Amino acid sequence: MADSFDEECDYLFKAVMIGDSAVGKSNLLWRFAKDEFRLDSKPTIGVEFAYRNIRVGDKLIKAQIWDTAGQERFRAITSSYYRGALGALLVYDITRRSTFNNLQKWLQELRSLADSHMVIVLIGNKSDLGHMREVGEEEGRKLAEQEDLYFMETSALQNVNVEDAFLRMITQIHRINTQRNLE
Ligand code: GDP
Repeated sequence: MADSFDEECDYLFKAVMIGDSAVGKSNLLWRFAKDEFRLDSKPTIGVEFAYRNIRVGDKLIKAQIWDTAGQERFRAITSSYYRGALGALLVYDITRRSTFNNLQKWLQELRSLADSHMVIVLIGNKSDLGHMREVGEEEGRKLAEQEDLYFMETSALQNVNVEDAFLRMITQIHRINTQRNLE
C-alpha cells in the first residue's frame, strides 16, 4: 500500500498527534512511518513530523503527520500546531486513567483551534499491557460514540492496529476531500 517517498502525489495533507505525555504518540507515528519500534523516548523539543505516501483508490496521498515532540508536557502547543490539519490521532494510555480523563481537555482544544471538519480517531494505546489496564475498552468506545470519533485500541510495541488507525483517518479525510471537491 505504501509507495516510495519521492513519487509524485495527487495531494498532501497534514494531520496531528495529540494527547498526554508518554501515551505513545511518537512510537505510534514511527511505527506507522517506518514500521519499527523505538524503545527510547526522544528528548528533543520542537515539532517533529513524518511523511508516508498512501494509495487510496487511484489517488496517491502524501500524509504529513505532526508530533508534539514532548511540548504538551509544558502546555506549549500553539494554534500553529493545529493550523491546516485535517485529521488528528487523539491518544490515551489504557494503563493510566489520568490520560483518559484528560481527553475532554484535548477535545476542547481541538474544537477551539482546529478545522471543524477535522477527522479525529481516538486511540487507546498500550493494549499489550492488559494486566495493567485502568480504562476498559468499552469506556473508550462509549466516549468515541458520544463525541462522534472513530475508536481503536492499539499497541505500538506489538504493532497491533497501528496501520488500521492511521489508514482509517487517512481514508476518511480523502472521502471528505472528494465530497467537498464535488460540491
Ligand atoms: P509520547 O510522549 O506520547 O510521544 O510517548 P512515547 O512514544 O515517547 O512513549 C512513551 C513510553 O511508552 C516509552 O517508554 C515507550 O517505550 C512506551 N510505549 C509506547 N507505546 C507503547 C505500547 O504500545 N506498549 C508498551 N508496552 N509501551 C509503549
